[in-house]
Amino acid sequence: MKRSPHSSPREHPGSSDFASREEATTLFGPVPSRRLGRSLGIDVIPPKTCSFDCVYCESGRTTCHTLERKVFVPPERIIQDLRNHLSDHPGQTDILTLSSAGEPTLYSALGDLLHMVKENFPELPLAVLTNGSLLWDPQVRKDLRWADIVIPSLDAVTSEVFRTINRPCRGLTVDAILEGLLAFRKEYRGHLRVEVLLVSHHNDHPAELARLARVLQAVQPDAVELNTVVRPPAFPGAGGLSQGAMEGSLAHFSGLNARIIGSYQGGGISRSEDRLDRRILALLERRPCAAMEMAQSLSVSPARMEQTLEGLLKTGSIVAYPHGGALYYCLPTRGHQRSRDG
Ligand code: SF4
Repeated sequence: MKRSPHSSPREHPGSSDFASREEATTLFGPVPSRRLGRSLGIDVIPPKTCSFDCVYCESGRTTCHTLERKVFVPPERIIQDLRNHLSDHPGQTDILTLSSAGEPTLYSALGDLLHMVKENFPELPLAVLTNGSLLWDPQVRKDLRWADIVIPSLDAVTSEVFRTINRPCRGLTVDAILEGLLAFRKEYRGHLRVEVLLVSHHNDHPAELARLARVLQAVQPDAVELNTVVRPPAFPGAGGLSQGAMEGSLAHFSGLNARIIGSYQGGGISRSEDRLDRRILALLERRPCAAMEMAQSLSVSPARMEQTLEGLLKTGSIVAYPHGGALYYCLPTRGHQRSRDG
């Protein structure tokens, strides 16, 4: 049934987990995404509620390891938040992206939400980033049909590598995920990009890369994106690949429209400096960030950013630690382990 943009809010039982979080935010950014441009994030999942506990996760260790789908926040609230944000900040968003420090397909009102977003904001493309772990569920595949772009990740095709890198919930098998991905490709009419995140000494062995490429040849996504660990990972041993190693890996994926995800090249995002500390905390709730990156994302001067970060450090609201030659900031509660160079 088509839903009117002004239809009465529908009650979604079971939304208390999210709503009870004080000042819980359902939107973040826009952040300058390396692959999507100025992306306004929609977050429907409590932080680190996930079917995986990936070694490379930039949001820290998974605290709620689950396969149970729930309505964590009513979709009507997200639509209202979007309406407010887009009217307050016109022309500053290129794309809406369902993404979180957890797995978005665990949101059981996903189909309703995506449908409502497309009805209310048809001018903006809608993307979903997912770990792909629930694609074996026909309802999840059906829910995702409203998205213009779906980007599932696929880091491994053998059980041992899958268990080591993605650390899935008990009972979740790589075979079920692969079957789900193949079924989704057949049913989905939108743009399907598969992301492969490469972790040094985990899934970058030529034999595993060749197996991954064979599976992707069968799936035939519209594009393949190779990524690697850049930010501080949940597990200190999860290291990124060098540029040379990434280019060497890319050679395995010929004929698949594959590329290494590059740096963001888009324009700046003009934003006022109001409530900068809260906007910084909202960004850091999802992932650790460096000061320059936050200054660019929130369109404030580096000096203003440094000053605000200093204040947040003094009150203990955030912590800083070095990783890979850069200084990263994160929430003290995010559960990141210090990297070896930290
Ligand atoms: S990287 Fe994504 S899928 Fe993996 S644990 Fe983090 S939130 Fe979950």
